[in-house]
Amino acid sequence: MQGLMMDRPLLISSLLQHAEATHPNTEIVSRRCEGDIHRYTMKDAAKRARKVANLLSRLGINDGDRVATLAWNNYRHFELYYGISGYGAVLHTINPRLFAEQLVYIVNHAEDRFIFVDLTFVPLLEAILPHIGNVEGFIILADEDKMPETKLPNVHCYETLLAAESDEFEWPEFDERKGASMCYTSGTTGNPKGVLYSHRSTCLHAQGSVGAEVMGLSSSSCFLPVVPMFHVNAWGTPYSACITGAKQVFPGPGMDGASLWELIEAEQPDLLLGVPTVWLMLLNHMDSIGKKLESVTNVIVGGAAAPLQMIKDFDQKHDAFLIHAWGMTETSPIGTINAFNGIMAALPKEERYLLQQKQGRPVSGVEIKIIDDAGTELPRDGKTFGRLMIRGPWVVSGYYNNDDVSSFENGWFDTGDVATIDENSYMNIVDRSKDVIKSGGEWISSIDLENTAVGHPGLAECCVIGARHPKWDERPILLVIKNEGADVDEKSVLDYLEGKIVKWWTPDAVIFVDSLPHTATGKLLKINLRKEYENYLIDNA
Ligand code: ADP
Repeated sequence: MQGLMMDRPLLISSLLQHAEATHPNTEIVSRRCEGDIHRYTMKDAAKRARKVANLLSRLGINDGDRVATLAWNNYRHFELYYGISGYGAVLHTINPRLFAEQLVYIVNHAEDRFIFVDLTFVPLLEAILPHIGNVEGFIILADEDKMPETKLPNVHCYETLLAAESDEFEWPEFDERKGASMCYTSGTTGNPKGVLYSHRSTCLHAQGSVGAEVMGLSSSSCFLPVVPMFHVNAWGTPYSACITGAKQVFPGPGMDGASLWELIEAEQPDLLLGVPTVWLMLLNHMDSIGKKLESVTNVIVGGAAAPLQMIKDFDQKHDAFLIHAWGMTETSPIGTINAFNGIMAALPKEERYLLQQKQGRPVSGVEIKIIDDAGTELPRDGKTFGRLMIRGPWVVSGYYNNDDVSSFENGWFDTGDVATIDENSYMNIVDRSKDVIKSGGEWISSIDLENTAVGHPGLAECCVIGARHPKWDERPILLVIKNEGADVDEKSVLDYLEGKIVKWWTPDAVIFVDSLPHTATGKLLKINLRKEYENYLIDNA
């Protein structure tokens, strides 16, 4: 028997309509590329999103066409999120940190018709212009008097175009399963792959993200998303903001410690969201000027593992709780999250820190499991490692125009991560499956080793890879970058690790380097390092 409830579609435009009706005066604050601070309200954003929709109609954009953005976190990008998806087109948020050839690939692969671009990124497009000939026009997100000299053809000023449009627009209703936005993975091998989110998946993800034991957002929250709107939709926060009416503080291009601190002091957010490297910069900056976070209660960290020292620093120096979260472009991105709860409250601090290091529990709506290479599910004992599989209504079911189905297995998505899951469903990422080191048949987590070693006060960054070994197949070697002026040698690093890791995990070599390669999203790029150092232990035996 079918239920007898209304079948209203879950549409992104309905989130904005809700916010405009319910939280019209909620503030949205942005640092602009122009350098100044801009403020307006949800009501203003909703009006301008409708102007964007009228503009798309004038530009001849059809249902399902891809319209791209190349922009920082700011109010104009927020309007475009709603204007483009709400209109029925697909918002393609381009990650400017991709390499030039990847940018060319994704603009062509997505068949972007127009690109809305922040001033900062105009040169990036000029550089690839000969290779993206299918783009019909470029709209620069700036005031008329700030328009740059540019080689881009068919170029327009966003503010001039918007000024000419009406702020009346009837948002269309359509199937909630239609594509709403797309994001390409940064891909450490091969070309980036497109993940096409639907209106339904976006709305469900946003609703699943706001709860007390997830992001804990409400109309009295004020949050600062440092995670970019070009990287998995800033973890869905532009949508969560409309559901809750939380105030957003957009950092624009100012992602360095000093700019972030200035904004935090001025706007007093209670929640910050970003990747570990951003928080390292902020922590260092606050240390250097002797300041402490006053308004912040929670800091959400994801994208890479949060080191133990960071968890402690936020707690002990700033009285802020680090919420560790895990996800991927393919999971919208929130898969698991580790918010404060009764289990933690009952633990002594040192044990709580260890629990905080785990990536948390699945958000209601998604399911996770670990399996072995034969596909058999492994026990949830917090010790056994396995391939982490996930499924749920905001998890990818296939890549856009790409027949690679190697990650999809019986309705589950293979995350490429290796993890443990315990009896309370706390998941802990052990490693990426291709980065885990197999020493004599046993696994060593490169992430655990890196995060322990980086606690050494003389080290700025650490990278662990497996090198071939005649007896053990593979052994870990540790590549490190010293802090400027630090007096560190191999012995002091190994002494530091002693007692903090099991003895057989001790790296066979510590190699000092000047720099380490990263992917476009700031993760260590180990593929070339593995090749370069493959025979290091054999050659130096
Ligand atoms: P990319 O486009 O580089 O794949 P994603 O953000 O999709 O960017 O990366 C997802 C991957 O990042 C995950 O599969 C996992 O390996 C890693 N990751 C994300 N969050 C965490 C975390 N909290 N701890 C450890 N690794 C993480």
